Amino acid sequence: MKKLAPVARAAEAAGCVTLHDPGLIDRDKLRTLHDPNYVRAFITGKGDLASSQGWEWTAKIRTGVLAINAGQIVGAGLAMKHGIAANVAQGFHHAQPERGRYFCTFNGLALVAQEFPEMRIFVLDCDEHCGDGTAEFTERLPNLFNFSINGSNWEMLENERSICRTLKKVKKDFTPYRNALEEAFQTIRSWKPDLIIYQAGADPHAEDPLGTLGMTTEQLLERDRIVFRFCKSKGIPVLFVLAGGYQTPIEEKLVPLHLNTFKAAYEAYCLPT
Ligand SMILES: [Zn+2]
Repeated sequence: MKKLAPVARAAEAAGCVTLHDPGLIDRDKLRTLHDPNYVRAFITGKGDLASSQGWEWTAKIRTGVLAINAGQIVGAGLAMKHGIAANVAQGFHHAQPERGRYFCTFNGLALVAQEFPEMRIFVLDCDEHCGDGTAEFTERLPNLFNFSINGSNWEMLENERSICRTLKKVKKDFTPYRNALEEAFQTIRSWKPDLIIYQAGADPHAEDPLGTLGMTTEQLLERDRIVFRFCKSKGIPVLFVLAGGYQTPIEEKLVPLHLNTFKAAYEAYCLPT
């Protein structure tokens, strides 16, 4: 979570964004999405479930998580209004209905589907790691589609609205990754979502300590450009989130990668074609 403020400041300084304060999420929305016992544990900081995502619980972390989840709903609303928006935060794609997992507390991707039941929500998850928590929520939320292109798959649940494409290390020509994106776009064309949520993970990068995909900075930027050009050309609103990215020092190594996603979005939506 330490990367979020530096990325927000960098995007604002680059003239790419107008920042909004989302406030904190209504806890009833979380109790509807997740097991109420898990939500209670995290809110009170009591019991093993309070730290099930892997962080030692603090009140500051609780506030950050509640703001991150609020940002998903505010961001989705802004995307539907303007065509594009970002939540300068993580989607929390590993969070499961009954508990947190792998640094993910409450699933902000499923949360949007719950919040807008009349809308079809398509998650294009391009994090290094599979969106296994979101996959579980597709069994509960009929308006949620999860398409995960990753390098690390932990037996993600697959069904007719949950697709997993696990790739080997990306080579210079980038073709398998492009093909996986094209398959996702074909799925989008046929499923016709009202909103795409793009998990623009920076952890597929070659220097990421948790990465296996080995992508270059230029390949990640090209990935972002391809996604935003597609969303724009189809007229489908897109909300993007930072997702993973673990390089340090944050300002030097990680912020430029996430900032590139904002630049790609700005190019696609704000510059003349
Ligand atoms: Zn990840």
